[in-house]
Amino acid sequence: MILYFIILSRITVHYVCPKCKNKFKAPIEAVLEFEQEDEWNGLPISTPPYIICSKCNFNKCVPIDYVSKRGYHHKYIEK
Ligand SMILES: [Zn+2]
Repeated sequence: MILYFIILSRITVHYVCPKCKNKFKAPIEAVLEFEQEDEWNGLPISTPPYIICSKCNFNKCVPIDYVSKRGYHHKYIEK
């Protein structure tokens, strides 16, 4: 599913892994998919659409600067 999106999509969202600081781009379709799942699961709009890090497998990579479909501005502040 995600591979299919990567081929089709040209719009990406910048992500960062809080654990190993790996920065990568995720196709917007995948991000929207995760957002949709969070909404169905009843999670608050402040929940970032998490993606798994391809380097360290940490499963809570967050968007660096992204306004979600539900209107929440996700912003990663480096600690
Ligand atoms: Zn990582």
